[in-house]
Amino acid sequence: MKIAVVGTGYVGLVTGTCFAETGNDVTCVDIDVQKVEKLKNGIIPIYEPGLDILFDRNTKAKRLKFTTNLEEGIKDAQIIFLALPTPPGEDGSADLKYILKVADDLGPLLEDYTVIIDKSTVPVGTAEKVHERIARNAKVEFDVVSNPEFLREGVAVEDFMKPDRVVIGTTSEKAQKVLSHLYNPLVRQGNPIIFMDERSAEMTKYAANAFLATKITFMNEIANLCEKVGANVDAVRMGIGSDSRIGKRFLFAGIGYGGSCFPKDVQALAKTSADYDYDFRILQSVMEVNQNQKTKLIPRIKEYFNGELKGKTVAVWGLAFKPYTDDIREAPALENIKILLSEGVKIKAYDPEASENVRKLIGDKIVLTDGPYSALENADALLVVTEWPLFRTPDFDVMSKLLKNKVIFDGRNLFDLQEMKELGYTYYSIGREAVL
Ligand code: NAD
Repeated sequence: MKIAVVGTGYVGLVTGTCFAETGNDVTCVDIDVQKVEKLKNGIIPIYEPGLDILFDRNTKAKRLKFTTNLEEGIKDAQIIFLALPTPPGEDGSADLKYILKVADDLGPLLEDYTVIIDKSTVPVGTAEKVHERIARNAKVEFDVVSNPEFLREGVAVEDFMKPDRVVIGTTSEKAQKVLSHLYNPLVRQGNPIIFMDERSAEMTKYAANAFLATKITFMNEIANLCEKVGANVDAVRMGIGSDSRIGKRFLFAGIGYGGSCFPKDVQALAKTSADYDYDFRILQSVMEVNQNQKTKLIPRIKEYFNGELKGKTVAVWGLAFKPYTDDIREAPALENIKILLSEGVKIKAYDPEASENVRKLIGDKIVLTDGPYSALENADALLVVTEWPLFRTPDFDVMSKLLKNKVIFDGRNLFDLQEMKELGYTYYSIGREAVL
Protein backbone atom coordinates (compact mmCIF):
# COMPACT_ATOMS: atom_id res chain seq x y z
CA MET A 1 0.00 0.00 0.00
CA LYS A 2 1.04 3.59 -0.45
CA ILE A 3 1.27 5.30 2.93
CA ALA A 4 2.11 8.82 4.08
CA VAL A 5 3.17 9.65 7.63
CA VAL A 6 2.85 13.30 8.60
CA GLY A 7 5.17 14.13 11.51
CA THR A 8 8.47 12.25 11.63
CA GLY A 9 9.34 12.20 15.34
CA TYR A 10 9.64 9.21 17.66
CA VAL A 11 6.26 7.81 16.63
CA GLY A 12 6.15 8.90 12.98
CA LEU A 13 9.60 7.66 12.08
CA VAL A 14 9.06 4.28 13.75
CA THR A 15 5.61 3.93 12.15
CA GLY A 16 6.92 4.82 8.70
CA THR A 17 9.98 2.61 8.94
CA CYS A 18 8.09 -0.41 10.27
CA PHE A 19 5.37 -0.21 7.63
CA ALA A 20 8.07 0.06 4.95
CA GLU A 21 9.59 -3.08 6.48
CA THR A 22 6.30 -4.94 5.88
CA GLY A 23 6.48 -4.04 2.19
CA ASN A 24 4.55 -0.79 1.96
CA ASP A 25 5.65 2.26 0.05
CA VAL A 26 6.03 4.97 2.71
CA THR A 27 6.69 8.69 2.51
CA CYS A 28 7.34 10.57 5.76
CA VAL A 29 6.56 14.28 5.83
CA ASP A 30 7.93 16.79 8.33
CA ILE A 31 8.12 20.57 8.46
CA ASP A 32 11.51 20.42 10.17
CA VAL A 33 13.83 21.02 7.21
CA GLN A 34 16.99 19.99 9.07
CA LYS A 35 15.41 16.75 10.26
CA VAL A 36 14.28 15.82 6.75
CA GLU A 37 17.68 16.71 5.33
CA LYS A 38 19.35 14.40 7.85
CA LEU A 39 16.92 11.58 7.09
CA LYS A 40 17.47 11.98 3.35
CA ASN A 41 21.19 11.65 4.02
CA GLY A 42 20.72 8.45 5.99
CA ILE A 43 21.07 10.02 9.44
CA ILE A 44 18.48 9.06 12.08
CA PRO A 45 17.85 12.10 14.31
CA ILE A 46 16.76 10.09 17.35
CA TYR A 47 18.23 7.18 19.28
CA GLU A 48 15.99 4.13 19.09
CA PRO A 49 17.56 0.65 19.32
CA GLY A 50 17.18 -1.46 16.18
CA LEU A 51 15.70 1.33 14.08
CA ASP A 52 18.90 1.82 12.07
CA ILE A 53 18.84 -1.65 10.49
CA LEU A 54 15.25 -1.30 9.27
CA PHE A 55 15.84 2.31 8.24
CA ASP A 56 18.89 1.43 6.13
CA ARG A 57 17.21 -1.53 4.48
CA ASN A 58 14.07 0.34 3.53
CA THR A 59 15.64 3.62 2.43
CA LYS A 60 18.03 1.66 0.21
CA ALA A 61 15.08 -0.26 -1.26
CA LYS A 62 13.35 3.13 -1.79
CA ARG A 63 10.32 1.96 0.17
CA LEU A 64 10.98 4.74 2.71
CA LYS A 65 11.27 8.35 1.57
CA PHE A 66 11.23 11.78 3.19
CA THR A 67 9.96 15.18 2.20
CA THR A 68 8.98 18.54 3.65
CA ASN A 69 6.26 18.92 1.06
CA LEU A 70 2.85 17.70 2.21
CA GLU A 71 1.33 17.62 -1.27
CA GLU A 72 4.20 15.56 -2.66
CA GLY A 73 4.26 13.32 0.43
CA ILE A 74 0.60 12.33 0.34
CA LYS A 75 0.32 11.93 -3.45
CA ASP A 76 -1.53 8.68 -4.19
CA ALA A 77 -1.46 7.66 -0.50
CA GLN A 78 -4.33 5.36 0.48
CA ILE A 79 -3.50 5.88 4.14
CA ILE A 80 -2.25 9.05 5.84
CA PHE A 81 -0.99 8.81 9.42
CA LEU A 82 -0.95 11.93 11.56
CA ALA A 83 1.92 11.47 14.06
CA LEU A 84 2.05 15.08 15.15
CA PRO A 85 2.83 16.62 18.53
CA THR A 86 -0.01 17.14 21.00
CA PRO A 87 1.77 19.10 23.75
CA PRO A 88 -0.09 20.44 26.76
CA GLY A 89 -1.76 23.77 26.14
CA GLU A 90 -1.83 26.45 28.84
CA ASP A 91 -4.83 24.85 30.55
CA GLY A 92 -3.32 21.35 30.48
CA SER A 93 -5.48 20.11 27.60
CA ALA A 94 -3.77 18.56 24.57
CA ASP A 95 -3.03 21.32 22.07
CA LEU A 96 -4.53 20.26 18.74
CA LYS A 97 -3.11 23.08 16.65
CA TYR A 98 -0.61 20.88 14.78
CA ILE A 99 -3.24 18.25 13.99
CA LEU A 100 -5.94 20.68 12.92
CA LYS A 101 -3.51 22.68 10.79
CA VAL A 102 -2.55 19.55 8.85
CA ALA A 103 -6.26 18.57 8.63
CA ASP A 104 -6.98 21.97 7.02
CA ASP A 105 -4.07 21.51 4.62
CA LEU A 106 -5.11 17.98 3.68
CA GLY A 107 -8.69 18.71 2.62
CA PRO A 108 -8.01 20.21 -0.80
CA LEU A 109 -5.15 17.79 -1.53
CA LEU A 110 -7.11 14.51 -1.34
CA GLU A 111 -7.67 13.01 -4.79
CA ASP A 112 -9.27 9.65 -4.03
CA TYR A 113 -10.77 7.72 -1.08
CA THR A 114 -8.24 8.02 1.76
CA VAL A 115 -8.07 6.75 5.33
CA ILE A 116 -6.66 9.44 7.62
CA ILE A 117 -5.38 8.07 10.91
CA ASP A 118 -4.86 9.90 14.19
CA LYS A 119 -1.77 8.17 15.58
CA SER A 120 -1.11 11.03 17.98
CA THR A 121 -2.56 10.87 21.47
CA VAL A 122 -5.61 13.07 21.21
CA PRO A 123 -8.58 13.85 23.45
CA VAL A 124 -11.96 12.22 22.98
CA GLY A 125 -13.79 13.84 20.09
CA THR A 126 -10.71 14.70 18.03
CA ALA A 127 -11.47 12.30 15.17
CA GLU A 128 -14.78 14.11 14.69
CA LYS A 129 -12.99 17.47 14.73
CA VAL A 130 -10.39 16.32 12.22
CA HIS A 131 -13.15 14.93 10.01
CA GLU A 132 -15.01 18.21 10.12
CA ARG A 133 -11.89 20.26 9.26
CA ILE A 134 -10.91 18.03 6.31
CA ALA A 135 -14.51 17.94 5.04
CA ARG A 136 -14.52 21.73 4.70
CA ASN A 137 -12.36 21.48 1.56
CA ALA A 138 -12.39 17.82 0.52
CA LYS A 139 -14.00 16.79 -2.76
CA VAL A 140 -13.57 13.03 -2.28
CA GLU A 141 -14.74 10.42 0.20
CA PHE A 142 -12.48 9.83 3.24
CA ASP A 143 -12.55 8.34 6.74
CA VAL A 144 -10.84 9.55 9.90
CA VAL A 145 -9.77 6.74 12.22
CA SER A 146 -8.38 6.82 15.73
CA ASN A 147 -5.47 4.37 15.98
CA PRO A 148 -3.56 5.26 19.15
CA GLU A 149 0.04 4.18 19.47
CA PHE A 150 1.26 2.19 22.48
CA LEU A 151 4.95 1.86 21.62
CA ARG A 152 7.51 2.53 24.33
CA GLU A 153 10.55 4.60 23.51
CA GLY A 154 13.63 2.42 23.85
CA VAL A 155 11.83 -0.69 22.55
CA ALA A 156 9.73 1.11 19.97
CA VAL A 157 10.62 -1.08 17.00
CA GLU A 158 9.87 -4.30 18.86
CA ASP A 159 6.63 -2.86 20.25
CA PHE A 160 5.56 -1.68 16.82
CA MET A 161 6.42 -4.87 14.97
CA LYS A 162 4.84 -7.11 17.64
CA PRO A 163 2.20 -5.06 19.43
CA ASP A 164 0.31 -6.56 22.40
CA ARG A 165 -2.78 -5.27 20.64
CA VAL A 166 -3.79 -2.84 17.93
CA VAL A 167 -6.67 -0.52 18.75
CA ILE A 168 -8.63 0.80 15.81
CA GLY A 169 -11.42 3.27 16.36
CA THR A 170 -13.73 3.51 13.38
CA THR A 171 -17.27 2.60 12.45
CA SER A 172 -16.46 2.63 8.74
CA GLU A 173 -16.30 -0.90 7.31
CA LYS A 174 -14.24 0.33 4.41
CA ALA A 175 -11.61 1.80 6.75
CA GLN A 176 -11.67 -1.35 8.91
CA LYS A 177 -10.78 -3.43 5.86
CA VAL A 178 -7.89 -1.18 4.87
CA LEU A 179 -6.48 -1.20 8.41
CA SER A 180 -6.86 -4.96 8.91
CA HIS A 181 -4.88 -5.46 5.73
CA LEU A 182 -2.18 -3.06 6.97
CA TYR A 183 -1.86 -4.46 10.50
CA ASN A 184 -2.36 -8.19 9.89
CA PRO A 185 1.37 -8.83 9.30
CA LEU A 186 2.08 -7.44 12.80
CA VAL A 187 -0.34 -9.70 14.69
CA ARG A 188 0.43 -13.07 13.17
CA GLN A 189 1.17 -14.54 16.62
CA GLY A 190 -2.47 -13.99 17.46
CA ASN A 191 -2.47 -10.73 19.35
CA PRO A 192 -5.77 -8.95 18.72
CA ILE A 193 -6.77 -6.08 16.51
CA ILE A 194 -9.51 -4.52 18.60
CA PHE A 195 -12.09 -2.55 16.67
CA MET A 196 -14.19 0.04 18.48
CA ASP A 197 -15.69 3.46 17.91
CA GLU A 198 -13.45 6.51 17.58
CA ARG A 199 -14.21 7.95 21.02
CA SER A 200 -13.50 4.70 22.84
CA ALA A 201 -10.19 4.33 20.99
CA GLU A 202 -9.17 7.85 21.96
CA MET A 203 -10.13 7.14 25.57
CA THR A 204 -8.26 3.80 25.55
CA LYS A 205 -4.93 5.51 25.05
CA TYR A 206 -5.45 7.94 27.93
CA ALA A 207 -6.80 5.18 30.17
CA ALA A 208 -3.71 3.04 29.47
CA ASN A 209 -1.21 5.80 30.21
CA ALA A 210 -3.09 7.10 33.23
CA PHE A 211 -3.30 3.56 34.62
CA LEU A 212 0.42 2.97 34.19
CA ALA A 213 1.28 6.35 35.70
CA THR A 214 -0.99 5.50 38.63
CA LYS A 215 0.64 2.10 39.09
CA ILE A 216 4.09 3.68 39.26
CA THR A 217 2.86 6.38 41.58
CA PHE A 218 1.10 3.93 43.88
CA MET A 219 4.34 2.02 44.25
CA ASN A 220 6.24 5.22 44.93
CA GLU A 221 3.83 6.02 47.73
CA ILE A 222 4.28 2.52 49.14
CA ALA A 223 8.04 3.17 48.95
CA ASN A 224 7.72 6.44 50.84
CA LEU A 225 5.76 4.67 53.53
CA CYS A 226 8.25 1.77 53.61
CA GLU A 227 10.96 4.28 54.52
CA LYS A 228 8.90 5.50 57.44
CA VAL A 229 7.90 2.09 58.82
CA GLY A 230 11.24 0.38 58.19
CA ALA A 231 10.16 -1.94 55.35
CA ASN A 232 12.00 -2.62 52.09
CA VAL A 233 10.02 -1.71 48.98
CA ASP A 234 11.90 -4.19 46.81
CA ALA A 235 10.82 -7.05 49.05
CA VAL A 236 7.27 -5.70 49.00
CA ARG A 237 7.42 -5.46 45.21
CA MET A 238 8.40 -9.12 44.91
CA GLY A 239 5.72 -10.01 47.41
CA ILE A 240 2.91 -8.38 45.50
CA GLY A 241 4.20 -8.73 41.93
CA SER A 242 3.88 -12.50 41.95
CA ASP A 243 0.12 -12.09 42.35
CA SER A 244 -1.11 -12.44 38.77
CA ARG A 245 -3.83 -9.87 39.40
CA ILE A 246 -1.11 -7.30 40.09
CA GLY A 247 1.71 -8.42 37.79
CA LYS A 248 5.44 -7.87 38.05
CA ARG A 249 5.76 -4.94 35.70
CA PHE A 250 5.70 -1.23 36.50
CA LEU A 251 6.26 -1.84 40.19
CA PHE A 252 9.75 -0.43 40.58
CA ALA A 253 9.91 2.47 43.00
CA GLY A 254 12.00 5.45 42.01
CA ILE A 255 12.17 9.19 41.61
CA GLY A 256 9.08 9.47 39.48
CA TYR A 257 8.04 9.11 35.89
CA GLY A 258 8.86 11.60 33.14
CA GLY A 259 8.88 11.52 29.37
CA SER A 260 6.80 13.02 26.65
CA CYS A 261 3.70 10.92 27.36
CA PHE A 262 2.73 10.12 30.96
CA PRO A 263 2.95 13.67 32.35
CA LYS A 264 1.07 15.29 29.50
CA ASP A 265 -1.47 12.50 29.07
CA VAL A 266 -2.41 12.37 32.75
CA GLN A 267 -2.78 16.15 32.68
CA ALA A 268 -4.88 16.05 29.51
CA LEU A 269 -7.18 13.36 30.92
CA ALA A 270 -7.63 15.44 34.07
CA LYS A 271 -8.58 18.38 31.86
CA THR A 272 -11.06 16.26 29.90
CA SER A 273 -12.59 15.16 33.22
CA ALA A 274 -12.89 18.77 34.37
CA ASP A 275 -14.48 19.74 31.04
CA TYR A 276 -17.14 17.11 31.66
CA ASP A 277 -17.61 18.12 35.31
CA TYR A 278 -16.12 14.90 36.56
CA ASP A 279 -13.84 15.08 39.58
CA PHE A 280 -11.23 12.43 38.71
CA ARG A 281 -9.48 12.56 42.06
CA ILE A 282 -6.88 9.83 41.56
CA LEU A 283 -5.37 11.74 38.65
CA GLN A 284 -4.86 14.86 40.76
CA SER A 285 -3.02 12.78 43.38
CA VAL A 286 -0.92 11.03 40.75
CA MET A 287 0.26 14.36 39.36
CA GLU A 288 1.04 15.84 42.77
CA VAL A 289 2.79 12.76 44.14
CA ASN A 290 4.89 12.35 41.02
CA GLN A 291 5.96 15.98 41.09
CA ASN A 292 7.21 15.60 44.67
CA GLN A 293 8.76 12.22 43.97
CA LYS A 294 11.01 13.58 41.23
CA THR A 295 13.02 15.66 43.70
CA LYS A 296 12.69 13.36 46.67
CA LEU A 297 16.43 12.92 47.11
CA ILE A 298 17.23 16.64 47.22
CA PRO A 299 16.47 16.98 50.96
CA ARG A 300 18.67 13.92 51.59
CA ILE A 301 21.53 15.57 49.70
CA LYS A 302 21.04 18.79 51.65
CA GLU A 303 20.97 16.90 54.96
CA TYR A 304 24.14 15.04 54.11
CA PHE A 305 25.99 18.29 53.46
CA ASN A 306 24.41 20.00 56.50
CA GLY A 307 22.59 22.42 54.24
CA GLU A 308 25.87 23.66 52.73
CA LEU A 309 25.44 22.87 49.05
CA LYS A 310 27.10 25.92 47.58
CA GLY A 311 30.37 25.06 45.86
CA LYS A 312 29.79 21.30 46.02
CA THR A 313 30.04 19.15 42.90
CA VAL A 314 27.44 16.46 42.26
CA ALA A 315 27.96 13.78 39.62
CA VAL A 316 24.73 12.78 37.88
CA TRP A 317 24.39 9.39 36.20
CA GLY A 318 21.58 9.38 33.67
CA LEU A 319 19.79 12.26 31.99
CA ALA A 320 17.22 10.58 29.72
CA PHE A 321 13.80 10.08 31.27
CA LYS A 322 14.41 6.33 31.06
CA PRO A 323 17.07 3.97 29.66
CA TYR A 324 17.54 3.23 25.95
CA THR A 325 16.35 6.62 24.77
CA ASP A 326 17.85 10.05 24.18
CA ASP A 327 14.55 11.68 25.10
CA ILE A 328 14.82 14.20 27.94
CA ARG A 329 11.29 15.59 27.85
CA GLU A 330 10.08 16.00 31.46
CA ALA A 331 13.09 13.99 32.63
CA PRO A 332 13.51 13.91 36.44
CA ALA A 333 17.24 14.55 35.89
CA LEU A 334 16.53 18.04 34.56
CA GLU A 335 14.42 18.95 37.56
CA ASN A 336 17.08 17.77 40.00
CA ILE A 337 19.84 19.55 38.11
CA LYS A 338 17.83 22.78 38.06
CA ILE A 339 17.40 22.75 41.84
CA LEU A 340 21.00 21.81 42.51
CA LEU A 341 22.27 24.55 40.20
CA SER A 342 20.05 27.09 41.97
CA GLU A 343 21.72 26.03 45.24
CA GLY A 344 25.15 26.77 43.77
CA VAL A 345 26.09 23.14 43.08
CA LYS A 346 28.32 22.26 40.14
CA ILE A 347 27.05 19.37 38.02
CA LYS A 348 29.09 16.78 36.14
CA ALA A 349 26.72 14.52 34.26
CA TYR A 350 26.90 11.46 32.06
CA ASP A 351 24.30 9.72 29.92
CA PRO A 352 25.04 7.16 27.19
CA GLU A 353 22.60 8.72 24.68
CA ALA A 354 20.93 11.88 25.97
CA SER A 355 23.93 14.16 26.54
CA GLU A 356 23.61 15.85 23.16
CA ASN A 357 20.02 16.88 23.83
CA VAL A 358 20.99 18.19 27.27
CA ARG A 359 23.92 20.05 25.73
CA LYS A 360 21.49 21.87 23.43
CA LEU A 361 19.28 22.78 26.37
CA ILE A 362 21.66 23.67 29.23
CA GLY A 363 25.10 22.70 27.94
CA ASP A 364 26.81 25.84 29.19
CA LYS A 365 25.55 25.38 32.76
CA ILE A 366 26.84 21.88 33.47
CA VAL A 367 29.79 19.66 32.55
CA LEU A 368 28.87 16.70 30.35
CA THR A 369 31.40 13.89 30.48
CA ASP A 370 32.30 11.12 28.05
CA GLY A 371 31.91 8.31 30.53
CA PRO A 372 30.41 7.51 33.94
CA TYR A 373 33.73 7.55 35.80
CA SER A 374 34.93 10.92 34.50
CA ALA A 375 31.76 12.43 35.98
CA LEU A 376 32.95 11.25 39.40
CA GLU A 377 36.37 12.93 39.35
CA ASN A 378 36.46 15.34 42.28
CA ALA A 379 32.71 15.09 42.78
CA ASP A 380 31.39 15.32 46.34
CA ALA A 381 28.55 12.87 45.72
CA LEU A 382 26.87 10.73 43.06
CA LEU A 383 23.20 11.05 42.17
CA VAL A 384 21.78 8.19 40.04
CA VAL A 385 18.72 9.25 38.04
CA THR A 386 18.31 6.87 35.08
CA GLU A 387 18.61 3.09 35.36
CA TRP A 388 20.86 2.47 32.35
CA PRO A 389 22.17 -1.11 32.69
CA LEU A 390 25.70 0.31 32.37
CA PHE A 391 25.37 1.78 35.87
CA ARG A 392 24.24 -1.42 37.54
CA THR A 393 27.56 -3.10 38.20
CA PRO A 394 30.14 -0.34 38.31
CA ASP A 395 33.66 -0.73 39.68
CA PHE A 396 33.16 0.53 43.21
CA ASP A 397 36.91 0.55 43.88
CA VAL A 398 37.46 2.97 41.03
CA MET A 399 34.47 5.01 42.18
CA SER A 400 35.80 5.20 45.74
CA LYS A 401 39.06 6.64 44.47
CA LEU A 402 37.38 9.25 42.27
CA LEU A 403 34.62 10.48 44.58
CA LYS A 404 35.61 12.89 47.35
CA ASN A 405 33.04 11.26 49.65
CA LYS A 406 31.77 7.71 49.44
CA VAL A 407 28.14 8.75 49.16
CA ILE A 408 25.51 7.75 46.59
CA PHE A 409 21.96 9.06 46.24
CA ASP A 410 20.24 6.45 44.12
CA GLY A 411 16.89 7.36 42.59
CA ARG A 412 16.48 3.94 40.92
CA ASN A 413 17.52 1.42 43.60
CA LEU A 414 20.33 0.00 41.49
CA PHE A 415 22.58 -1.26 44.26
CA ASP A 416 22.36 -3.89 46.93
CA LEU A 417 22.07 -2.53 50.49
CA GLN A 418 24.34 -5.18 51.98
CA GLU A 419 27.02 -4.57 49.36
CA MET A 420 26.87 -0.83 50.01
CA LYS A 421 27.32 -1.50 53.74
CA GLU A 422 30.29 -3.79 53.13
CA LEU A 423 31.91 -1.28 50.78
CA GLY A 424 31.53 1.46 53.35
CA TYR A 425 29.31 3.71 51.31
CA THR A 426 26.72 6.12 52.63
CA TYR A 427 23.80 5.16 50.45
CA TYR A 428 20.33 6.59 50.09
CA SER A 429 17.76 4.94 47.83
CA ILE A 430 13.97 4.89 47.50
CA GLY A 431 11.76 2.95 49.90
CA ARG A 432 14.67 1.22 51.60
CA GLU A 433 16.65 1.95 54.75
CA ALA A 434 19.51 4.41 54.33
CA VAL A 435 22.98 2.92 54.70
CA LEU A 436 24.80 5.33 56.97
P1 NAD B 1 7.79 14.37 18.22
O1 NAD B 1 7.81 15.72 18.75
O2 NAD B 1 9.00 13.48 18.37
O3 NAD B 1 7.47 14.40 16.63
C1 NAD B 1 6.51 15.19 16.06
C2 NAD B 1 7.00 15.65 14.68
O4 NAD B 1 5.95 16.35 14.02
C3 NAD B 1 8.18 16.59 14.74
O5 NAD B 1 9.25 16.06 13.96
C4 NAD B 1 7.65 17.89 14.14
O6 NAD B 1 8.62 18.61 13.41
C5 NAD B 1 6.56 17.37 13.24
N1 NAD B 1 5.57 18.37 12.82
C6 NAD B 1 5.00 19.39 13.53
N2 NAD B 1 4.12 20.07 12.76
C7 NAD B 1 4.12 19.48 11.54
C8 NAD B 1 3.42 19.71 10.32
N3 NAD B 1 2.57 20.70 10.20
N4 NAD B 1 3.70 18.91 9.28
C9 NAD B 1 4.59 17.90 9.39
N5 NAD B 1 5.27 17.62 10.50
C10 NAD B 1 5.05 18.39 11.57
O7 NAD B 1 6.53 13.65 18.85
P2 NAD B 1 6.30 12.09 19.16
O8 NAD B 1 6.99 11.73 20.43
O9 NAD B 1 6.57 11.29 17.94
O10 NAD B 1 4.74 12.08 19.49
C11 NAD B 1 3.77 12.27 18.48
C12 NAD B 1 2.41 11.91 19.06
O11 NAD B 1 2.38 10.52 19.40
C13 NAD B 1 2.03 12.66 20.33
O12 NAD B 1 0.65 12.89 20.34
C14 NAD B 1 2.40 11.68 21.43
O13 NAD B 1 1.64 11.87 22.59
C15 NAD B 1 2.04 10.36 20.78
N6 NAD B 1 2.78 9.21 21.31
C16 NAD B 1 4.10 9.31 21.60
C17 NAD B 1 4.80 8.20 22.07
C18 NAD B 1 6.25 8.30 22.41
O14 NAD B 1 6.75 7.39 23.08
N7 NAD B 1 6.97 9.33 22.00
C19 NAD B 1 4.13 6.98 22.24
C20 NAD B 1 2.78 6.90 21.90
C21 NAD B 1 2.11 8.02 21.44
